[in-house]
Formats: sequence, structure tokens, C-alpha cells
Amino acid sequence: MHVDLAHNTCRHFDIVVAGGGLVGMAIAYGLARAGQRVAVCDGADSAHRAARGNFGLVWVQGKGGRCLPYAQWSRESSERWSAFAAQLKRETGIDAGFERPGGIELCETAEQLEAGRQLLESIHAQDASLDYEVLDIDALKARVPSASDKLAGALYSPHDGHASPLYTLRAMQQAFASHGGTYLPHNEVREIRPRAGRFEIDTTHGPLEAGRVVLAAGLDNKRLAPMVGMNAPITPLRGQIMVTERLAPFLDYPTLVVRQTREGSVLLGDSAEQVGFDDGQTRAVMADIARRARTAFPALAHARIVRAWGALRIMTPDGLPVYEESAAHPGAFLAICHSGVTLAAAHADIIAPWIAGGARPAILHPFVATRLSN
Ligand SMILES: Cc1cc2nc3c(=O)[nH]c(=O)nc-3n(C[C@H](O)[C@H](O)[C@H](O)COP(=O)(O)OP(=O)(O)OC[C@H]3O[C@@H](n4cnc5c(N)ncnc54)[C@H](O)[C@@H]3O)c2cc1C
Repeated sequence: MHVDLAHNTCRHFDIVVAGGGLVGMAIAYGLARAGQRVAVCDGADSAHRAARGNFGLVWVQGKGGRCLPYAQWSRESSERWSAFAAQLKRETGIDAGFERPGGIELCETAEQLEAGRQLLESIHAQDASLDYEVLDIDALKARVPSASDKLAGALYSPHDGHASPLYTLRAMQQAFASHGGTYLPHNEVREIRPRAGRFEIDTTHGPLEAGRVVLAAGLDNKRLAPMVGMNAPITPLRGQIMVTERLAPFLDYPTLVVRQTREGSVLLGDSAEQVGFDDGQTRAVMADIARRARTAFPALAHARIVRAWGALRIMTPDGLPVYEESAAHPGAFLAICHSGVTLAAAHADIIAPWIAGGARPAILHPFVATRLSN
């Protein structure tokens, strides 16, 4: 659908989604698939975009230690990912590269292995369907022969997998368009004004109007949420990632620190720094990431790094997602999470039908924004 915003005429949609990252596009795709007239307003090229700088894990293991529903929500999405990826491929021809061989958390010391075991055991004790295995070094080597003998062992969960975040985003954009969705790039939402049950939305290229609005603008949700009577006390948390040249396959499972893509390149990562909106890189963190990767897989000592970057996670104070409809201005929804790859399938399949007018799913109960005001 072509939209001419040059003449500043107000365009009307059923739903406007602010933000075209992994969260906004997954919800928008689900909404368009359900027959809604949807526009996605996205930011400029210079905007912070976790969707284009992440590690690509679909990860359940270890989540929900303090909130079981978060583990269950992550698992729900992981279970749906295969069908989600298949549908995207059918609709667009784009393969999101999803695989779910299970995921491995490597442990350098016996203390790390024991702490991880205790966490997974406590989660399993609350919900026996959240499976895991403890691998001593022999069991790890049997499964991953390229792993170093110096590791203490690993934790394995069958619920984990990985995907290409960039192909996922591209596939969702294309599928959204094929269902009649309108994607408006370089078109930031500046202001939202609730008016008699509808929303006037000022964007860089002109006004829009909609019956519902979804705030999925990543870190900018903090600024937008008060405009519709909500609170989003989120902060950035930087992660740095390095990528090697393409290597022959040596790792069949995603891990938290090393992941080999289908194309052969290897992502190295897993850092977390509170440095405000600085999305740069530092030598100290990159050296630590390289050390951990080399310790786990000695063969990587000879791999050349071809790219490195920093990107900002979107963190709530307790690390849990937020999915909420504004009580003051019904029809305005807030969506925040720091695992937008993992949760993409659930966002399209479960969050979108709720926003389209369905009942709020019970599993979302703990993820209200009001918990952050208390
Ligand atoms: C280093 C790193 C590693 C990660 N690894 C993983 C992982 O392995 N697995 C996983 O599940 N998750 C991972 N994540 C998290 C994942 O990337 C995010 O959860 C996801 O990208 C969040 O998506 P989002 O759409 O909320 O935000 P973003 O991806 O940041 O997108 C926000 C979008 O909103 C747009 N925008 C901003 N302001 C406005 C405005 N005012 N109006 C309109 N549009 C606006 C921006 O242009 C942008 O496109 C990682 C993140 C980082 C940083």
C-alpha cells in the first residue's frame, strides 16, 4: 500500500505501531495477518536498534528463576518458533534460519556448573516440563567434540535454539506488507494525543490517526509511554558482539557465548555494561569475549574477527517484559522486552490477537507495567 505523507494529510488506520524492531514488526505482522489495517512507524537509520545488533538466540534455559511465568512464556514462544518460521518462509520465501537442537551453557568452573544446576533444578521443580541436563566434561565432549577439555562441563536444555535475527526481521517486514500492512521508515512518532477513544499521532512526515496504538519503540518507549498514561522506566544495557570469518562447521548447538551461523561465521558475545546510550566497543570487553570463546573452543584461537559492534538492550528494572493496555487511555498498548528474538513467535501469535481485541492471555498476568511503579 502506498501512502503519500508529503501533503501532510492525516491518514487513518485501525492500529499504528510505533517502532519497527523485532517487537514492533512481530506484533504488526500478527495484526496484519488477522486482517487489521496497520501502519508501522519506524525510526531513522541512526536510531538505536537492538533488533539489528543482537546474538540471535531463542533461549529459555535459566530464565524465570525469580518469576516462573517468564520461563513458561519464553518456552511457549520457543515451541511456536518452528511453525512461525515455516509460515514466514511460505509467505515470503525467506528462511529465518531457525534451528532448535537445544542450547548449551558452558561452565569454566565447577562452581559455575553447580550454580547453574541449582537454578535449573529449582525451575524444573516448579514446572517439570522445563527440562535440562547437566553435562560433565565427558558428556559435553561426547556432544560437542570441539569443546575444550579445560571446561568444567555444561548445562543443556532442549528448549533452546537460534535464528538469524536479520532474516527474521526482513521476513516479518515482507510478510507484513503482503498482508496489506504499511511500513513507514524514517518516520518517528513525535507525539501521541488521546482524543475521545482514538489517537492522534504526530510523526516526522505528518499526522496519523488510529483506534489503537502500540508502543514498541524500544528505548524511546520511556518518552512515549506517559503520553498515553503509562510508565516505562527502562534503561539501556550494552552488549558487544564480534563475528569471525566463515569457518567449517564445528558447533552444532548454540551457546550463550559462541554461536555458529548456518553460513559458517561465528558470533562471540555475552557482555553487559551500563554505559547509558553509548553503543560503542571497548578493547577490554572484546578481549574478555575473545578469551572466553577461545577457552571454550581452542580452534577459535586462529579465527579472524571480521566485524564487531555494540548494541543496547532495553531493560526494565526487574528484567521482565511489559505487556499492558493503558487504563487511562484504553486502546494504547505498551510492549517491552529484552529477548525480542526468543519472543517473536509469541508476539505474533499471542500478543497481536490480544491487541486486536481478544482477551488478555492469563500467562501475561505478571507482566503489567504498574508493578514498576510500586
Ligand atoms: C547485544 C545484544 C544481544 C542480544 N541477544 C539476544 C538474543 O540472543 N536473543 C534474544 O531474544 N534477544 C536478544 N537481544 C534483545 C533483542 O535484540 C531485543 O529484545 C529486541 O531487538 C528488542 O526489540 P524492540 O523492537 O523492542 O527494540 P529495537 O530493536 O531497538 O527497535 C526499536 C525500533 O523502534 C524505532 N523507534 C525508536 N523510536 C521511535 C519513535 N519515536 N517512533 C517510531 N519508531 C521508533 C527504532 O528505529 C527501532 O527500529 C539482544 C540485544 C542486544 C543489544
